Amino acid sequence: MMELINDRLVAKQALFANNYKRKEKNEQGFDYLIVGAGFSGSVLAERLASKANKRVLIIDKRDHIGGNTYDYYNNDGILIHKYGPHIFHTNSKEVFEYLGQFTQWRPYEHRVLASVDGQMVPIPINQNTINMLYGLNLSSDEVDAFLKSKAEPVDRILTSEDVVISKVGRELYEKFFRGYTRKQWALDPSQLDASVTARVPTRTNKDDRYFTDTFQAMPLHGYTQLFQKMLAHPNIKIMLNTDYKEVIGMIPHKALIFTGPIDSFFDYCYGKLPYRSLDFQFETVDAEHFQPTGTVNYPNEHLYTRITEFKYLTGQKHPKTSVVYEYPKDEGDPYYPIPTQENARMYKKYQLLATATPNTYFAGRLGTYKYYNMDQVVAQSLTLFKKLVQAEEQHMPM
Ligand code: FAD
Ligand code: UDP
Repeated sequence: MMELINDRLVAKQALFANNYKRKEKNEQGFDYLIVGAGFSGSVLAERLASKANKRVLIIDKRDHIGGNTYDYYNNDGILIHKYGPHIFHTNSKEVFEYLGQFTQWRPYEHRVLASVDGQMVPIPINQNTINMLYGLNLSSDEVDAFLKSKAEPVDRILTSEDVVISKVGRELYEKFFRGYTRKQWALDPSQLDASVTARVPTRTNKDDRYFTDTFQAMPLHGYTQLFQKMLAHPNIKIMLNTDYKEVIGMIPHKALIFTGPIDSFFDYCYGKLPYRSLDFQFETVDAEHFQPTGTVNYPNEHLYTRITEFKYLTGQKHPKTSVVYEYPKDEGDPYYPIPTQENARMYKKYQLLATATPNTYFAGRLGTYKYYNMDQVVAQSLTLFKKLVQAEEQHMPM
């Protein structure tokens, strides 16, 4: 009997000591306040909580986690991506394995057709594209020679026009790139950095995959479920429907990580960084499939750039199918940083200000104003995490 009472006493004391410790910690608030529950903020939250035992509060102004990769089942029970189609691909084993802790993968290789001259032809331009467009039957080597004969020499490849013209010439540039780019960015390719159209390669073989990365797969149960697993750690608290500006003054924290638009953080003191936005128009049709492949691009027709059918991406079986049309626009949610020299100069000024702001770190597509894919954002956050830990170990401010 006495033993039992003693045991209870010890247990009670331990509980009290624990609560006291926790209270002490609570009084210090959070180690990190993270703004944005997209990939950049959530990866940092997960690493800091699980590997560095930090107490993290992650805040998002939207009513969900996942940032722009958020997916959900629509009224017909079809899994759709609220902010446009997201296809995962990476050459980084580290990124793929890291995310693999929070999801199973479904292998998926994305294929895209472009509606050009009344036909649906593969994009990136490949051997079949050339043969279909010109009614030819060229071998791979002959396509190579054909494209070389069309290509225009460019001394220094600086713009998105240079990239394409120097590889395939003006005619194919106008069929596939000029109209699409002007629609998407409201800029001529000659005004955009080379990196934009360089995302789309040219091939002389029959490979019709949109990406050639080593790892190409979709989270088996969707992105939102991946994020739920990633953020399910007792050190992580989540606050949704909240602009960080509403609460930041009330929540004690030692450091801040910001993954929203960097210019907004500094109240646009150097002017507004331009972003491109999109309207998404969703449609569900009463048919097994709507189009022959995951995405169809419309470089020269319509106000939208492309239509994507989700079931190809997700592998879902359903008697109906849902698609999304993307209409580019200026105002609205900031989806795309616009890669021009002028914008890079303005961003540099914000970046300098960011470096001079103590205990505050910027990450992600909006926080670092970079046209990054998901895997690049994840890699960037993993690197920032390592730097934060190193700095703490060496008692160095970062
Ligand atoms: P985000 O996901 O934008 O997260 C930032 C979060 O911060 C948002 O949730 C926002 O609500 C929150 N926030 C901002 N300001 C505040 C504030 N003041 N207070 C509180 N919260 C705030 N990448 C690929 O790899 N493959 C693809 O196929 C692909 N397709 C894409 C298609 C479209 C249409 C778009 C727009 C992007 C696509 N991407 C794709 C890129 C991908 O979306 C990004 O790389 C990734 O989602 C960026 O993550 P992030 O965390 O940096 O930003
Ligand atoms: N692009 C184009 N025609 C196409 C596909 C792409 O001109 O059929 C250009 C366009 O400028 C686009 C860029 O290449 O914005 C990058 O294309 P990507 O498919 O990578 O765009 P994202 O998926 O990021 O919107």
